[in-house]
Amino acid sequence: MTRKLFVTTALPYANAAFHIGHMMEYIQADIWVRLQRMLGHEVHFVCADDAHGAPIMIAADKAGLTPQEFVGRIAAGRKPYLQGFHIGFDNWHSTDGPENHALAKEIYLALRANGLIATRRIEQFFDPVKGMFLADRYIKGECPKCGAKDQYGDNCEVCGAVYAPTDLKNPYSVLSGATPELRSSEHFFFKLSDPRCVEFLQGWTQDGRLQPEVANKVKEWFSGDGLDDWDISRDAPYFGIEIPDARGKYFYVWLDAPVGYLASLKNLFGRLGLDFDAYLADPDVEQVHFIGKDIVTFHTLFWPAMLKFSGRKVPDHIFVHGFITVSGEKMSKSRGTGISPLRYLELGLDAEWLRYYIAAKLNAHVEDIDFNAEDFVARVNSDLVGKYINIASRAAGFIAKRFGGRLSADLGVEGRTLLDGLRAHRDTVAELYEAREYGKALREIMALADRVNGYVDQHKPWELAKQPGEDAVLHDVCSVCIEAFRVLTVYLKPVLPALAAKVEAFLQIEPLQWHDAARALGSHTIGAYQHLMQRVDTKLLDALFEPPAAPPAPTPGGEALAAEIGIDDFAKVDLRIAKIVAAERVEGSSKLLRLTLDVGEGKTRNVFSGIAGAYQPEDLAGKLTVMVANLAPRKMKFGLSEGMVLAASHADEKAHPGLYVLEPWPGAVPGLRVR
Ligand SMILES: [Zn+2]
Repeated sequence: MTRKLFVTTALPYANAAFHIGHMMEYIQADIWVRLQRMLGHEVHFVCADDAHGAPIMIAADKAGLTPQEFVGRIAAGRKPYLQGFHIGFDNWHSTDGPENHALAKEIYLALRANGLIATRRIEQFFDPVKGMFLADRYIKGECPKCGAKDQYGDNCEVCGAVYAPTDLKNPYSVLSGATPELRSSEHFFFKLSDPRCVEFLQGWTQDGRLQPEVANKVKEWFSGDGLDDWDISRDAPYFGIEIPDARGKYFYVWLDAPVGYLASLKNLFGRLGLDFDAYLADPDVEQVHFIGKDIVTFHTLFWPAMLKFSGRKVPDHIFVHGFITVSGEKMSKSRGTGISPLRYLELGLDAEWLRYYIAAKLNAHVEDIDFNAEDFVARVNSDLVGKYINIASRAAGFIAKRFGGRLSADLGVEGRTLLDGLRAHRDTVAELYEAREYGKALREIMALADRVNGYVDQHKPWELAKQPGEDAVLHDVCSVCIEAFRVLTVYLKPVLPALAAKVEAFLQIEPLQWHDAARALGSHTIGAYQHLMQRVDTKLLDALFEPPAAPPAPTPGGEALAAEIGIDDFAKVDLRIAKIVAAERVEGSSKLLRLTLDVGEGKTRNVFSGIAGAYQPEDLAGKLTVMVANLAPRKMKFGLSEGMVLAASHADEKAHPGLYVLEPWPGAVPGLRVR
């Protein structure tokens, strides 16, 4: 039976470019979708940008853009990643699209009609300067327990205390620095505590559709006090969807974000001329969401309950994956990981190496996986190229040169047995992919490749080619290799779609479907072999891990800042306001002026200063300036210098001429210390 599959990945928040974690999820889902399509099933695979919420509104404001312009720029940058890594979404939409506005309101109104929406006044911090309520992450203050400064509104990073933002001492708004005021406001709640919701969710989460570890985690949430109602509203100003019949109230971004799955599908169906409502009402449609472990609550409680009690189909599967670390380091939300997906592509690394590597690490569990450079090189070079690609490269040349490109239909008993063995694994391999056990699937496929390589090593086509009268055997052996290579390509195609397309062109065959693994090519003419895949050049991988070249450190005034000093070091330099009582040229020097300075000591000082090129003596007399008053007197050719006048200049005076004596603001008098 043909399955009808509606598949999504989590909607990425539209405030940043993709990182390697996004690509892992897209690759995982894309492999699954490609398998289903090869099996002949009907799939609609969609995603969208999650465009709403305070962080985007604030980021847009900082960038001087409207939120729409801001998310539009982010969305415009998605394509190179998706195309570059062969992610075959049928549609990429936005939660700010008209379909999502309409669907979110429809769902809300249905929930309200069902008696599942409540309103309640809550007290919350308000930023009087920005004129907006503040989410916890926009409030900082002193920890109520240990007094540490600049702690966030929910927990203290110093002592680990957990508290409410209203517990903070001397709270301030991160956005404006203003002291927030407690204000009360009416909020809308989805009554998740309603017995109907609880009963439905207890059944839905525990009926075997979730991964066991996810179902167990969710089970804990039902114990104790049970489920809390969910606050689904935010006050204006907010970038989002206005709540019907409630001016100035908007849906919290997490209410309309998952609705974006449906909105993206609806947008796609609009373009394809298909009936969206009929499709969603079809009980045969399987709704599948691939997500990360950080957003399980939203997808196992709120989302299915929203769908159920608005009279819609509920998700059939929530496939949860772990995170990806790079060389054992946890990803930072702000910095991403050491690997930028775009830099990976720009360096010329093959997207399918990464697809293969990630697939080799993935399984059906909520486990973190690690990207390790050595492991990456080993798996790609030894397995993918060494075991699989080599099968074709060792046989194709003889088929072309000796047999006009035509494959033998006979193959011999041993060859046929080998191929039957390979073909016999097609259901097992498909089942492993179906179960998201990609690592196991690839190990199985590589074990089959080992068998083929054993056959090649045993029959040694390169030796057969030198022996007279062995043409028929050579023809059979090489044809077996090509046929085996084709079967393995079927098995690898969900992971390596671009490579499979090259193989199809080389073999001069139609796009491979899963059932093609069971068939024989027979006496078929193939094209000329062209190199299909390179080995990883480890230099490229080194370049990938190099931190991106930092812009040259700015050197103000043409020189780097001097080493840091403490205040005690600075205090050793006694700077004083000095009056230039007199200034005169120095006989025999074009650079120096002789200054007579009054620093309030009841006597004057004699100071030689190298400023003759920049100032006429008559311009200086009578002015105030700053001098180093405690510099040890220095004997010079023209007399004793009792201090130093301060002046600014570029390190490279020839390229950047200009010398500027300091002058205090009006009111300063000789002898005041500069500190
Ligand atoms: Zn603390």
